[in-house]
Amino acid sequence: MNAPEHPLRPHHLEALEFGNSFAALPPAFHTRLQPTPVPDPYLVGASSAAAALIGLDPGEFGRSEFIDAFSGNRILPGSQPLAAVYSGHQFGVWAGQLGDGRAILLGDVPTAAGTAQPRMELQLKGAGMTPYSRMGDGRAVLRSSIREFLCSEAMAALGIPTSRALCVTGSDMPVMRETVETAAVCTRMAPSFVRFGSFEHWFYQDRKEELRRLADYVIEGHYPELAGAPNRYQDLLREVARRTAVLMAQWQAVGFMHGVMNTDNMSILGLTIDYGPFGFMEAFDARHICNHSDHGGRYAYHMQPKIGQWNCFALGQAMLPLMGGVDEAQAALDGYGPVYTAHFEQLMRDKLGLRAAESDDAGLIDALFSLLQENRPDYTLFFRRLSRLRIDEAAADEPLRDLFIDRAAFDAWAGMYRARLRKENSQDAARRAAMDAVNPKYVLRNYLAQQAIEKAQNKDFSEVAKLLAVLERPFDEQPENERYADLPPDWANDLEVSCSS
Ligand code: AMP
Ligand code: MG
Repeated sequence: MNAPEHPLRPHHLEALEFGNSFAALPPAFHTRLQPTPVPDPYLVGASSAAAALIGLDPGEFGRSEFIDAFSGNRILPGSQPLAAVYSGHQFGVWAGQLGDGRAILLGDVPTAAGTAQPRMELQLKGAGMTPYSRMGDGRAVLRSSIREFLCSEAMAALGIPTSRALCVTGSDMPVMRETVETAAVCTRMAPSFVRFGSFEHWFYQDRKEELRRLADYVIEGHYPELAGAPNRYQDLLREVARRTAVLMAQWQAVGFMHGVMNTDNMSILGLTIDYGPFGFMEAFDARHICNHSDHGGRYAYHMQPKIGQWNCFALGQAMLPLMGGVDEAQAALDGYGPVYTAHFEQLMRDKLGLRAAESDDAGLIDALFSLLQENRPDYTLFFRRLSRLRIDEAAADEPLRDLFIDRAAFDAWAGMYRARLRKENSQDAARRAAMDAVNPKYVLRNYLAQQAIEKAQNKDFSEVAKLLAVLERPFDEQPENERYADLPPDWANDLEVSCSS
């Protein structure tokens, strides 16, 4: 991989060295096309942290060339834009061909020195119609683009694998949803946007050669350590299942809900992708459904780990022609359950400030989730206050205890917890510091996003920038930003997020 010439000096837009590895796949994998320009684009928000990944100078954000490039109005040198084809299961039902209906891949660029992946693809979401737009208009509205931008960067700061977001540009061009809104383009970055549904696409068309080609492409570019292995396709499936199980554990632990876990929204790299009607758990309810369009609750919070597994089975089925038989695929998928359980338990131990693993930890964790379910405290606030618990001073529990309706039930659980802490000779100050490093104080609550969106809809983009800055440091106290950790106001009860975006 060719490293940038001056890896430490951030460079200009024009110095992005585009490669087009996905475009080099056979024509059946994509349609080459240009983004459709938008009238008079403007910058809504941009992420310096995302720019740093590709060595781009944040000073570039203000240039009209930057805004033109990332609204689809100007193609950067070397970029060969395209829309990729894929299929998928939507809400458990085979949906046939989908594809990038409004996302346009610009190509891949080298990352700055020290970045884990050598290259990042840049993709414009909302850049106009493609052959895969079906009934859609190829556009994305400002509201959902701001939500995707902020959440991508917030998840990265939380340490959860995710696509990144470089920027959002807007245009006053009207876009029809339930009401008339305006258009926006979110520039996303990921090493690859290949989905489980990209594999299903070839399986359901019985095109084994393309299926193999895709698997080889993914292995070569993103799992090079598997390249020479005798059972490399089985290894790929095993590794994707492992990463997916880890991702699900991370979502559950932080209280993130994706909202639309269709197989076309599942990353072959185990990243969180395609942010739509997502949410962060507030008043705890394991059955919470963050997507207003998900009437059956298929993607409710408590379903996510099982759905992640279901999706891996769908991938396994699609990859069957590359393997010796069902047993081979089954063996690759067997790891999902144990990996999920072990990882989730470890994350919960970390959240509880427990250093050692004990045989009865699952019991303590189960009892905690029953307590949370009965009392519905704010999930983020609960863990942040729990770190202030003192082993020998129950009187100091008050702010934490206040989150519970059933104080006696809280006291009973806190008794178990204290006994467990004493057993490992836990020290209050050290435990608090360790817990604060894993239990965020700041998450992207719907009402916070809504406030930033409403200002942005009136051309005031300051709150997008402010909220991004707060969410980039989710574990820090940030006393000057205390109000961003507040519980949702009453009006937030009426907020609904749906598939409309
Ligand atoms: P999603 O579940 O939101 O990731 O999208 C499912 C499919 O619908 C994908 O193929 C998208 O590209 C497509 N899609 C969603 N919204 C639009 C739109 N406004 N125009 C064109 N295609 C869209
Ligand atoms: Mg999608």
